[in-house]
Amino acid sequence: MKIFSYGKQFLDESDYQAVLEVLQSDYLTCGPKVSEFEQALCAYTGAKYCVAVSNATAGLHLAMLALGIGQEDEVITSPITFLSSANCARFVGASVKFADIESDTANIDVKEIEKQITSKTKAIIPVHFAGQSCDMEKIRQLAEKHNLFIVEDAAHAIGSDYKNTKVGSCRYSDMAVFSFHPVKNITTGEGGAITTNNEELYKKLLSYRAHGIHKEGEMLQTWEYEMHELGYNYRLTDIQAALGISQLKKLEQFKKRRREIVQFYNEHLGLPHLIEKEFSSACFHLYPVLVENRKEFYHKAKEQGLNLQVHYIPVHLQPYYQKLGFKKGDFPKAEVYYDKCISLPLYPSMSDEDLTSIVQRIKDIIHE
Ligand SMILES: *Cc1c(COP(=O)(O)O)cnc(C)c1O
Repeated sequence: MKIFSYGKQFLDESDYQAVLEVLQSDYLTCGPKVSEFEQALCAYTGAKYCVAVSNATAGLHLAMLALGIGQEDEVITSPITFLSSANCARFVGASVKFADIESDTANIDVKEIEKQITSKTKAIIPVHFAGQSCDMEKIRQLAEKHNLFIVEDAAHAIGSDYKNTKVGSCRYSDMAVFSFHPVKNITTGEGGAITTNNEELYKKLLSYRAHGIHKEGEMLQTWEYEMHELGYNYRLTDIQAALGISQLKKLEQFKKRRREIVQFYNEHLGLPHLIEKEFSSACFHLYPVLVENRKEFYHKAKEQGLNLQVHYIPVHLQPYYQKLGFKKGDFPKAEVYYDKCISLPLYPSMSDEDLTSIVQRIKDIIHE
């Protein structure tokens, strides 16, 4: 029996070659490939600036630092996300507020964001869940009204469009952060990138990415450099960047196949699933469905060769966040969603035969 998991990277000969060329070159890191990758991401998204980083969690941390968010501040994000969307605020000492989701998209609900805004709120981190963009125009209006920054957690959403702009164009936000972990839409092994149209933020991101070091003017002629602020080592390697450049060339193909698979599931499974809004053309990262007796379904699926995953345990219910005062019942829509959601296999190398087989196995489990 062929085994399927919920996500999987797609690599081919051109990816292997791209990496091999770097391995045989002079630079494994801090060479030409990182800036080439950053330029390619700018060209793809339409953003002015891009900073490649070691992973999206580091990218979100840098975004908080660049905005100067700190101890007195509050940041609002979705409870249905990976931990990093909330943790990044904690890295800089800020408080996390959650805003409940919309049941039909599992994206953060703009009306719920407004309820969470206080005089301490500094930023909103909308998460484009499963690859579908949040309604950024509405979030932007709200942010302008209350003078807030917006950092898009676009870890799921490279390749997605919102109202004919690419996610990551930052038309409606200050920064957007991508992840290139192997389960995401394109991969560099580990990796991430931040896009922005703001030169000042761009310069801060560059500084914080590399120890706060500045080397310019006459310093370029010698060993001299200056450290101006406390930065980190959040660089991507040239090996990873070369893989990213090669993967990005395949993204439109990946998107086409991901959308075909989603459409097939929508038509053939008959299970409750997320709805795509008219403003979205998503490069779907996940295909979550809602099932009764989810744990039993999970184990039966495993027996049928389907290694599924749940996205996500609501972040506010993690012990760490419960210690900060959150509790069950705080975000009912997120909790109801979590009780039934499970993500089915979705990745570009799935064939039509694979899809038919997966759908049959799931129907068998449900009707057993
Ligand atoms: C994967 C993911 C991250 C973290 O990405 P890393 O590159 O693994 O650090 C952040 N947010 C969301 C929504 C994710 O899915």
